[in-house]
Amino acid sequence: MSSRLLALAGSLLFALSAEAAVPVLVIHGGAGVVKADLTPEKAKLVRADLERALEAGYAVLKSGGDSLDAVTKAIVVLEDSPRFNAGKGAVFTHDGHNELDASIMDGATQRAGAVAGLRRIRNPILLARAVMEKSEHVFMVGEGAEAFAKSVGFSFVDPKYFYTEERWQALQKALRTEREQQAEPGKTPHHGTVGAVALDSKGHLAAGTSTGGMTNKRFGRVGDSPIIGAGTYANASCAVSSTGWGEYYIRAVVAHDICARVEYAKTPVAEAAKQVVMDIIPKLGGDGGVIAIDAEGNIATPYNTDGMYRGWVDKDGKVHVALLAE
Ligand code: ASP
Repeated sequence: MSSRLLALAGSLLFALSAEAAVPVLVIHGGAGVVKADLTPEKAKLVRADLERALEAGYAVLKSGGDSLDAVTKAIVVLEDSPRFNAGKGAVFTHDGHNELDASIMDGATQRAGAVAGLRRIRNPILLARAVMEKSEHVFMVGEGAEAFAKSVGFSFVDPKYFYTEERWQALQKALRTEREQQAEPGKTPHHGTVGAVALDSKGHLAAGTSTGGMTNKRFGRVGDSPIIGAGTYANASCAVSSTGWGEYYIRAVVAHDICARVEYAKTPVAEAAKQVVMDIIPKLGGDGGVIAIDAEGNIATPYNTDGMYRGWVDKDGKVHVALLAE
C-alpha cells in the first residue's frame, strides 16, 4: 500500500473512532426492595447476580457488539437467577401458576417484540426478540405465543422449573391476607422485574424488560412490562425499562413519556425520568422505578420505593451496583 493510501486509511480510522460512542449499560432487578427483608446474605447474592448480568452484557458492548444483544444477554442472566421476579423465581398467580411477560425494543429501527402469559418458556426475553425478528407482529400472548415459539424452534420447560419456595410462600401470605382482611385482589405489589438499557459504540440504544408480573394476579392480568411504551421503550435518543406497579405504569405510559420529554421538550434524561417516577406515578397512587439512558450515555435510575436493585457500567467502563439509597 502506498504511503498516501496508508495515511488516508489512518485518517478514516481516526474519524470513525472519533465518532464512535462510548458504550454504557444499565440494568435493574426490580424496585420492590423492602429494606427490612434485605439480609446481608441476600444482598450479597443479589449483588453477585447483578454483576454477572453486567459482565455478560458489557462484554458484548466492549467488543463492538449491538445494544440489542447486550440487553438480551444481561436479561437472560437475571431471568436464570431465582432471586428476581422473572424467568426462574417468577411470582405466582392467584391460581398457583407462573405467567411470564417480556418485551424488547431496538432504538435505531424502533422495531419491537413482546410476549405475555407464557408458562413454559425459560427465557421470555428471547421469545420477545424472536417475535421482533422472526414474525411480522409485535405482541403475542399465551398459547399463541408458545405455538409461535415452537414454530421457530424454542424448547419448552416444565412449568415447575419456575418454582421457588420463597415465591410460593409469598403467594400463600397474599392469599391469607386477602382472606383475613378481605383485601381487594391485586393489591399486593411486588416489583422484582428485571430490565436493561444500553448504548453501543455505533450510538444505538435498546431496552428490554422481563417479569413474572405481580403475586396473586388473576384473570390473565398483564402489567406494563411487555407493553411497548409503558414497560419498555427505545428510540434514537432515549431508552427506558420500567419496574413498578404495572396498572399505574400502563396508565402513565411511563417509558414513552420519559423519552418524549427527552426528545420533544429537550429535558435532560435524569430530569425527565425523575418527573415521571417521583411526581406523576405517586400522584396517581402507584410506585416503582425506571432505568433510562440517552444517546450521549447519560443515565438515570430513579425510584420511589425503599430501593431498586440496579447496576451500570459507565463511560469509564467502571461497574457499579446498588440496592438501596447508597
Ligand atoms: N411492572 C411489573 C408488573 O406490574 C411488576 C414489577 O415491576 O415488578 O407486572
